[in-house]
Amino acid sequence: MMIILEPAPQLWTCPNCPATARTTRQANRFHNCGGLSGLLAPMVPAGTVARVTAVVRDDYVNREDVRYDASGRPVTGIITEYADGRSDVVAFAPTAYVRGDL
Ligand SMILES: [Zn+2]
Repeated sequence: MMIILEPAPQLWTCPNCPATARTTRQANRFHNCGGLSGLLAPMVPAGTVARVTAVVRDDYVNREDVRYDASGRPVTGIITEYADGRSDVVAFAPTAYVRGDL
């Protein structure tokens, strides 16, 4: 007789909006967060005390292709800070353009 063990489902919540999710075999979960102006943001395991914040770019954008939130602010990343001191960072790296006539 063979028994197949299924992984327990993981419940996810967002500290910034009412979004929830239920997954199996997934190390993380992202969503377009209404609480962070529509940015693609990570969720945290249900019951986890964490703060998820967007990092607004504070220097000149020039011709780089950057990610903007719904308010038109350039954002360089999302930081998740857990109560135990850990943190995770999602970086939205800008893309530079190169002119072909140089
Ligand atoms: Zn959210």
